[in-house]
Amino acid sequence: MSITLRNIRKDYDQNTEVLKDVSVKVETGEFFVIVGPSGCGKSTLLRMIAGLTPITGGEVQIDDQVVNELPPKARKLTMVFQNYALYPFLSVWDNVAFGLKARKLDSADIKQRVDNALKMVSLTKLRKRKPRELSGGQRQRVALARAVASDAKICLMDEPLSNLDAQLRIKMRQEIYALQRKLGLTLIYVTHDQVEAMTMADHIMVLHDKHVQQIGTPSEIYQTP
Ligand code: ADP
Ligand code: ADP
Repeated sequence: MSITLRNIRKDYDQNTEVLKDVSVKVETGEFFVIVGPSGCGKSTLLRMIAGLTPITGGEVQIDDQVVNELPPKARKLTMVFQNYALYPFLSVWDNVAFGLKARKLDSADIKQRVDNALKMVSLTKLRKRKPRELSGGQRQRVALARAVASDAKICLMDEPLSNLDAQLRIKMRQEIYALQRKLGLTLIYVTHDQVEAMTMADHIMVLHDKHVQQIGTPSEIYQTP
Protein backbone atom coordinates (compact mmCIF):
# COMPACT_ATOMS: atom_id res chain seq x y z
CA MET A 1 0.00 0.00 0.00
CA SER A 2 1.27 3.46 -0.86
CA ILE A 3 1.09 6.62 1.25
CA THR A 4 0.72 10.06 -0.26
CA LEU A 5 1.15 13.24 1.78
CA ARG A 6 -0.09 16.46 0.18
CA ASN A 7 0.88 19.84 1.59
CA ILE A 8 0.77 18.66 5.18
CA ARG A 9 0.87 21.48 7.74
CA LYS A 10 0.91 21.31 11.51
CA ASP A 11 0.47 24.00 14.15
CA TYR A 12 0.11 22.81 17.73
CA ASP A 13 -1.31 26.24 18.46
CA GLN A 14 -1.30 29.60 16.74
CA ASN A 15 2.23 30.39 17.85
CA THR A 16 3.94 27.06 17.23
CA GLU A 17 4.11 26.04 13.62
CA VAL A 18 5.89 22.68 13.45
CA LEU A 19 5.59 21.69 9.78
CA LYS A 20 4.90 23.98 6.84
CA ASP A 21 4.34 22.05 3.65
CA VAL A 22 5.24 18.37 3.44
CA SER A 23 4.46 16.53 0.23
CA VAL A 24 5.77 13.09 -0.69
CA LYS A 25 4.65 9.75 -2.06
CA VAL A 26 5.89 6.58 -0.38
CA GLU A 27 5.51 3.63 -2.73
CA THR A 28 4.24 0.17 -1.87
CA GLY A 29 6.93 -2.00 -0.30
CA GLU A 30 9.31 0.88 0.20
CA PHE A 31 11.64 1.36 3.15
CA PHE A 32 11.25 5.11 3.62
CA VAL A 33 13.33 6.89 6.22
CA ILE A 34 12.66 10.33 7.72
CA VAL A 35 15.69 12.05 9.22
CA GLY A 36 16.22 15.46 10.77
CA PRO A 37 17.36 17.09 14.00
CA SER A 38 15.54 16.56 17.26
CA GLY A 39 12.36 18.62 17.47
CA CYS A 40 11.95 19.10 13.70
CA GLY A 41 8.58 17.34 13.62
CA LYS A 42 9.42 13.74 12.68
CA SER A 43 7.25 12.13 15.36
CA THR A 44 4.50 14.61 14.71
CA LEU A 45 4.44 13.64 11.05
CA LEU A 46 4.23 9.91 11.87
CA ARG A 47 1.45 10.54 14.34
CA MET A 48 -0.49 12.48 11.75
CA ILE A 49 -0.18 9.61 9.28
CA ALA A 50 -1.38 7.22 12.00
CA GLY A 51 -4.30 9.48 12.89
CA LEU A 52 -3.06 10.02 16.46
CA THR A 53 -2.61 13.78 16.00
CA PRO A 54 -4.92 16.01 13.96
CA ILE A 55 -3.44 17.68 10.90
CA THR A 56 -3.79 21.43 10.47
CA GLY A 57 -3.80 21.38 6.68
CA GLY A 58 -3.27 19.06 3.74
CA GLU A 59 -4.14 15.46 2.99
CA VAL A 60 -2.99 12.00 3.99
CA GLN A 61 -3.87 9.38 1.41
CA ILE A 62 -3.45 5.60 1.66
CA ASP A 63 -3.66 3.93 -1.74
CA ASP A 64 -6.64 5.72 -3.37
CA GLN A 65 -8.33 6.89 -0.19
CA VAL A 66 -7.92 10.19 1.64
CA VAL A 67 -7.87 9.10 5.30
CA ASN A 68 -7.96 12.48 7.08
CA GLU A 69 -11.31 11.66 8.65
CA LEU A 70 -10.56 8.03 9.48
CA PRO A 71 -9.77 7.00 13.08
CA PRO A 72 -6.43 5.23 13.66
CA LYS A 73 -7.89 1.73 13.72
CA ALA A 74 -9.47 2.15 10.30
CA ARG A 75 -6.17 3.10 8.66
CA LYS A 76 -4.87 -0.47 8.51
CA LEU A 77 -1.43 0.40 9.72
CA THR A 78 0.68 -0.53 12.69
CA MET A 79 3.12 1.52 14.72
CA VAL A 80 6.26 0.64 16.69
CA PHE A 81 7.21 3.16 19.36
CA GLN A 82 10.55 4.09 20.86
CA ASN A 83 9.57 2.78 24.30
CA TYR A 84 7.87 -0.34 22.81
CA ALA A 85 4.63 0.33 24.75
CA LEU A 86 4.39 -3.19 26.21
CA TYR A 87 1.92 -4.19 28.93
CA PRO A 88 4.07 -5.01 31.99
CA PHE A 89 1.68 -7.52 33.54
CA LEU A 90 1.05 -9.53 30.38
CA SER A 91 3.22 -12.31 29.01
CA VAL A 92 5.04 -11.89 25.73
CA TRP A 93 2.40 -14.03 24.07
CA ASP A 94 -0.46 -11.97 25.49
CA ASN A 95 1.26 -8.70 24.61
CA VAL A 96 1.30 -9.78 20.98
CA ALA A 97 -2.25 -11.14 21.15
CA PHE A 98 -3.73 -8.10 22.90
CA GLY A 99 -4.52 -6.00 19.85
CA LEU A 100 -5.87 -9.00 17.97
CA LYS A 101 -8.22 -9.84 20.84
CA ALA A 102 -9.39 -6.22 20.86
CA ARG A 103 -10.22 -6.65 17.19
CA LYS A 104 -12.29 -9.70 18.16
CA LEU A 105 -10.58 -12.06 15.75
CA ASP A 106 -11.41 -15.67 16.44
CA SER A 107 -9.09 -17.48 18.81
CA ALA A 108 -7.70 -19.98 16.30
CA ASP A 109 -6.73 -17.11 14.02
CA ILE A 110 -5.16 -15.22 16.93
CA LYS A 111 -3.18 -18.25 18.02
CA GLN A 112 -1.85 -18.83 14.54
CA ARG A 113 -0.87 -15.22 14.03
CA VAL A 114 0.81 -14.84 17.42
CA ASP A 115 2.70 -18.12 17.17
CA ASN A 116 3.84 -17.24 13.67
CA ALA A 117 4.89 -13.72 14.62
CA LEU A 118 6.87 -14.94 17.65
CA LYS A 119 8.60 -17.49 15.47
CA MET A 120 9.59 -14.82 12.98
CA VAL A 121 11.34 -12.80 15.66
CA SER A 122 12.77 -15.84 17.48
CA LEU A 123 10.78 -15.37 20.68
CA THR A 124 8.86 -18.64 20.82
CA LYS A 125 10.84 -19.93 23.80
CA LEU A 126 10.32 -16.71 25.75
CA ARG A 127 6.57 -16.47 25.12
CA LYS A 128 5.58 -16.92 28.78
CA ARG A 129 7.91 -14.28 30.17
CA LYS A 130 6.91 -10.83 31.30
CA PRO A 131 8.51 -7.76 29.72
CA ARG A 132 10.67 -7.13 32.83
CA GLU A 133 12.23 -10.56 32.34
CA LEU A 134 13.46 -9.63 28.87
CA SER A 135 16.50 -7.79 27.58
CA GLY A 136 16.13 -4.56 25.63
CA GLY A 137 16.56 -6.32 22.32
CA GLN A 138 13.98 -8.94 23.26
CA ARG A 139 11.46 -6.25 24.21
CA GLN A 140 12.11 -4.64 20.89
CA ARG A 141 11.31 -7.96 19.23
CA VAL A 142 7.99 -8.20 21.08
CA ALA A 143 7.06 -4.83 19.59
CA LEU A 144 8.08 -6.11 16.16
CA ALA A 145 6.08 -9.32 16.66
CA ARG A 146 3.04 -7.20 17.37
CA ALA A 147 3.47 -5.38 14.11
CA VAL A 148 3.92 -8.67 12.26
CA ALA A 149 0.85 -10.24 13.89
CA SER A 150 -1.34 -7.30 12.97
CA ASP A 151 -0.95 -8.24 9.32
CA ALA A 152 -0.93 -4.55 8.39
CA LYS A 153 0.89 -3.74 5.18
CA ILE A 154 1.95 -0.33 6.43
CA CYS A 155 4.21 0.04 9.43
CA LEU A 156 5.35 3.26 11.08
CA MET A 157 8.41 3.12 13.32
CA ASP A 158 9.45 5.99 15.56
CA GLU A 159 13.14 5.69 16.53
CA PRO A 160 12.67 2.01 17.37
CA LEU A 161 16.34 1.35 18.14
CA SER A 162 17.27 4.42 20.13
CA ASN A 163 17.06 2.65 23.50
CA LEU A 164 19.48 -0.10 22.51
CA ASP A 165 23.24 -0.19 22.78
CA ALA A 166 25.33 0.20 19.65
CA GLN A 167 25.98 -3.47 19.00
CA LEU A 168 22.36 -4.47 19.42
CA ARG A 169 21.29 -1.62 17.17
CA ILE A 170 23.25 -3.14 14.32
CA LYS A 171 21.71 -6.56 14.84
CA MET A 172 18.15 -5.24 15.17
CA ARG A 173 18.65 -2.99 12.18
CA GLN A 174 19.35 -6.09 10.11
CA GLU A 175 16.34 -7.88 11.56
CA ILE A 176 13.99 -5.01 10.81
CA TYR A 177 15.35 -4.74 7.30
CA ALA A 178 14.85 -8.47 6.70
CA LEU A 179 11.30 -8.36 8.08
CA GLN A 180 10.39 -5.38 5.94
CA ARG A 181 11.61 -7.11 2.80
CA LYS A 182 10.12 -10.48 3.64
CA LEU A 183 6.67 -9.07 4.42
CA GLY A 184 6.75 -6.46 1.66
CA LEU A 185 5.88 -3.78 4.20
CA THR A 186 5.56 -0.15 3.29
CA LEU A 187 7.69 1.11 6.15
CA ILE A 188 8.13 4.69 7.28
CA TYR A 189 11.01 4.78 9.71
CA VAL A 190 11.98 7.82 11.76
CA THR A 191 15.53 8.16 13.04
CA HIS A 192 18.16 10.75 13.74
CA ASP A 193 20.88 8.18 13.03
CA GLN A 194 22.52 8.76 9.67
CA VAL A 195 23.99 5.25 9.52
CA GLU A 196 20.57 3.67 9.95
CA ALA A 197 19.21 5.86 7.18
CA MET A 198 22.06 5.07 4.81
CA THR A 199 22.02 1.33 5.33
CA MET A 200 18.27 0.67 5.28
CA ALA A 201 16.48 3.27 3.19
CA ASP A 202 15.19 3.02 -0.34
CA HIS A 203 14.46 6.74 -0.04
CA ILE A 204 15.24 9.32 2.60
CA MET A 205 13.38 12.50 3.42
CA VAL A 206 15.35 15.18 5.24
CA LEU A 207 13.25 17.52 7.37
CA HIS A 208 14.78 20.82 8.32
CA ASP A 209 13.42 24.14 9.52
CA LYS A 210 9.77 23.03 9.27
CA HIS A 211 9.95 21.85 5.70
CA VAL A 212 11.28 19.11 3.42
CA GLN A 213 14.87 19.93 2.63
CA GLN A 214 15.54 16.99 0.36
CA ILE A 215 14.15 13.63 -0.78
CA GLY A 216 16.33 11.06 -2.49
CA THR A 217 18.15 7.76 -2.37
CA PRO A 218 20.86 7.33 0.27
CA SER A 219 23.60 7.99 -2.30
CA GLU A 220 21.84 11.14 -3.48
CA ILE A 221 21.42 12.46 0.05
CA TYR A 222 24.82 11.57 1.45
CA GLN A 223 27.06 11.99 -1.60
CA THR A 224 30.30 13.77 -0.87
CA PRO A 225 30.77 16.67 -3.27
P1 ADP B 1 10.98 15.13 16.50
O1 ADP B 1 10.24 13.84 16.46
O2 ADP B 1 11.58 15.47 15.17
O3 ADP B 1 11.98 15.20 17.59
P2 ADP B 1 8.45 16.24 17.38
O4 ADP B 1 7.49 15.91 16.30
O5 ADP B 1 8.43 15.37 18.58
O6 ADP B 1 9.92 16.30 16.77
O7 ADP B 1 8.24 17.73 17.84
C1 ADP B 1 8.23 18.79 16.93
C2 ADP B 1 7.95 20.09 17.66
O8 ADP B 1 6.60 20.09 18.10
C3 ADP B 1 8.81 20.31 18.88
O9 ADP B 1 9.14 21.67 18.93
C4 ADP B 1 7.92 19.92 20.01
O10 ADP B 1 8.26 20.64 21.16
C5 ADP B 1 6.55 20.30 19.50
N1 ADP B 1 5.50 19.43 20.05
C6 ADP B 1 5.46 18.08 19.97
N2 ADP B 1 4.35 17.60 20.54
C7 ADP B 1 3.66 18.68 20.99
C8 ADP B 1 2.41 18.85 21.67
N3 ADP B 1 1.64 17.80 22.00
N4 ADP B 1 2.03 20.12 21.94
C9 ADP B 1 2.78 21.18 21.61
N5 ADP B 1 3.95 21.10 20.98
C10 ADP B 1 4.39 19.85 20.67
P1 ADP C 1 -4.97 -22.84 29.87
O1 ADP C 1 -3.68 -23.46 30.25
O2 ADP C 1 -5.56 -21.93 30.90
O3 ADP C 1 -5.97 -23.81 29.29
P2 ADP C 1 -3.64 -21.88 27.56
O4 ADP C 1 -2.68 -22.99 27.75
O5 ADP C 1 -4.34 -21.74 26.24
O6 ADP C 1 -4.72 -21.84 28.67
O7 ADP C 1 -2.92 -20.50 27.83
C1 ADP C 1 -2.37 -20.16 29.05
C2 ADP C 1 -1.55 -18.92 28.78
O8 ADP C 1 -0.51 -19.27 27.90
C3 ADP C 1 -2.34 -17.81 28.11
O9 ADP C 1 -2.83 -16.87 28.98
C4 ADP C 1 -1.31 -17.21 27.23
O10 ADP C 1 -0.54 -16.30 27.96
C5 ADP C 1 -0.39 -18.30 26.91
N1 ADP C 1 -0.60 -18.94 25.63
C6 ADP C 1 -1.72 -19.37 25.04
N2 ADP C 1 -1.49 -19.93 23.86
C7 ADP C 1 -0.15 -19.88 23.70
C8 ADP C 1 0.75 -20.30 22.70
N3 ADP C 1 0.35 -20.91 21.58
N4 ADP C 1 2.05 -20.08 22.88
C9 ADP C 1 2.47 -19.49 23.96
N5 ADP C 1 1.69 -19.06 24.95
C10 ADP C 1 0.39 -19.26 24.82
